[in-house]
Amino acid sequence: MAMGKKAVFLDRDGTLIVDMDYLSDPDGVQLIDGAAEAVRRLSAAGYLIVMVSNQSGVARGMFTEREVRAVNRRVYSLLEQAGAHLDGDYYCPHYPKGTVPRYSIQCDCRKPAPGMGLRAAAELDIDLGRSCMIGDKSADVEFGKNCGMKNAVLVRTGHGMDQELDGGYGMIAADIRQAAELILQAGEEE
Ligand SMILES: [Mg+2]
Ligand SMILES: [Zn+2]
Repeated sequence: MAMGKKAVFLDRDGTLIVDMDYLSDPDGVQLIDGAAEAVRRLSAAGYLIVMVSNQSGVARGMFTEREVRAVNRRVYSLLEQAGAHLDGDYYCPHYPKGTVPRYSIQCDCRKPAPGMGLRAAAELDIDLGRSCMIGDKSADVEFGKNCGMKNAVLVRTGHGMDQELDGGYGMIAADIRQAAELILQAGEEE
């Protein structure tokens, strides 16, 4: 049996870009310091890079999926300008207590549920057991765990200052640059 690819999954807001609280304007996209370098280094080490983002603002009626995609395109282009490449991105527009009926559901893709990871694994031929998650919320770390990922890193940017790890799973890093460093070090020890 052929082995799937390894990937690093990245949260968007507060991890890859500065958290602007329900960002809907591409002009508000600002990469976190070291994000492009982190993506470049992880790609060079053979990881696919996949962005996974909860965008409950859609269910809350604050912006549309079209606007989410416009913001995500800006993330791609700012990274590309810095020589870094995303291999895919997924977002969850749902929220059970939203105001837009078709999005106000209990879905299987809002992190920490594993839906986006499972979908990426199937579409991009990823072996989740060789993969890692980086995010600024405990829900991101839980997502990694629920996907069966090898590891997850909680970064202290964005909402990360007041988040905690629960149990023995996950590591903590100052930011995405240091998170990439931890993942690369752990990879070398195998
Ligand atoms: Mg976040
Ligand atoms: Zn969802």
